[in-house]
Amino acid sequence: MAKKIYERLAAISYSRPSGTEEEKRAGEYLFKEIEGIGFKPVFEEFSYTRKVPADAYLAAVTEDGREVSFYVTGVIDSLDTPEEGLEAEFYYLRSFDDVSLTRIKGKVVLIHDRLSKDEYRKLRAAGIAGYVTTSGTVRDTYENSDLETARFRDNLSDEGALPAFTIRLIDAVELLRLKPKKVKIRLKLVEETVTSRNIVVTVPGKKIPEEIIVAGAHYDSVPFSLGSWDNGAGAVQIVALLEHFKRNAPDRTVKAILFGSEETGLRGSRAYLEAHEDEAESIKLMLNIDVGGSILGKEIIFIAAVGETEGWVRAFLKETGYEAVTFAKLMSSDCANFNDYGIPSISIGEGAPRGGGYMHTRYDNMDLIDEDVLEREAGFLAKLTDRVANSVVIPIPKHIPENLRKDIIEYFGEKKSVISKKPYVPEPKPVPFHF
Ligand SMILES: [Zn+2]
Repeated sequence: MAKKIYERLAAISYSRPSGTEEEKRAGEYLFKEIEGIGFKPVFEEFSYTRKVPADAYLAAVTEDGREVSFYVTGVIDSLDTPEEGLEAEFYYLRSFDDVSLTRIKGKVVLIHDRLSKDEYRKLRAAGIAGYVTTSGTVRDTYENSDLETARFRDNLSDEGALPAFTIRLIDAVELLRLKPKKVKIRLKLVEETVTSRNIVVTVPGKKIPEEIIVAGAHYDSVPFSLGSWDNGAGAVQIVALLEHFKRNAPDRTVKAILFGSEETGLRGSRAYLEAHEDEAESIKLMLNIDVGGSILGKEIIFIAAVGETEGWVRAFLKETGYEAVTFAKLMSSDCANFNDYGIPSISIGEGAPRGGGYMHTRYDNMDLIDEDVLEREAGFLAKLTDRVANSVVIPIPKHIPENLRKDIIEYFGEKKSVISKKPYVPEPKPVPFHF
């Protein structure tokens, strides 16, 4: 069994970004494996549009008037500069402290890491001309690293986009050493339509078929990465779950879904929910698996549900002897879309120790993948899915508490989120006790 899971993972461990031939090929492989188990999977195609960089230019203008250009890429779905580009003062925004923020008006700023909505609001309020964010580590070389293709996130779009670039951290250091007063930037984005596919498998429930538990994982990867850890591992564990259900039919209906295009903005799960809006009522819980199989690191479970669910999950871990830590938290993966449609979720993942993580890089490959870890994770997923699908009453109430609702709206932005359009319904209180 372990060998089979490992072999399947090895078979799809190649870069398979959203909408590419490789994503399609991995989907076809998984489809056939599922057919081989004896289920009838269905491909559900969907499309979306995005603006990708066609031309991205960044040059430092030195004191003596030299122009030194750097290799950069534009952030997907950010904003074009005027066609001829623009020249602006440059500022290294080390932090979002009050002093720094007074010094960036009209400038192109260099920042690190992913922007939170709050940080982005501060940049907008300060009136910057654009920003450059960094990718990688200072130990990178051009030969051993790739420049990440970042995406301008939905929740930032509510504030309006800005021209945005990504630069290698090693190049950012060189840029800073030039101590440029000014930079020239130019960005042209072109719209493209991407077509991708979900694979949907219905395992009919024996006793309560009208209630649905979704078990899902994305099977696409980011560019460059072979996506063994993130998230080929989750995809093949869903296939293993189907093997389990072939032998042990569940009481409730289980929908196993392999999502396409998670890495480009949770597109597959959003497309599924949009296409099956009527099903949202019947889906009682979503179990997600995103990242796994590495010999290094710990199991992490993210719970987006009413407060007592975390206690229930912890008790279940003790009962089954599974080693994992839990967090009550919205998880940035396909489960978040289910939360937005009012469906609670439990998302299983694996966190790497310091120095042992390689998410979204070319080092996410089979090197650290371990057969036994894969099997252990798949075994737990089967136990958990079994437990909820076969409970007399599902132990997790179908309710999104107020704090989680706020996080969902913050995450997707007011415009995109579905839950923001519906009034908040307070959690049903238990009936008080009377003699
Ligand atoms: Zn992932």
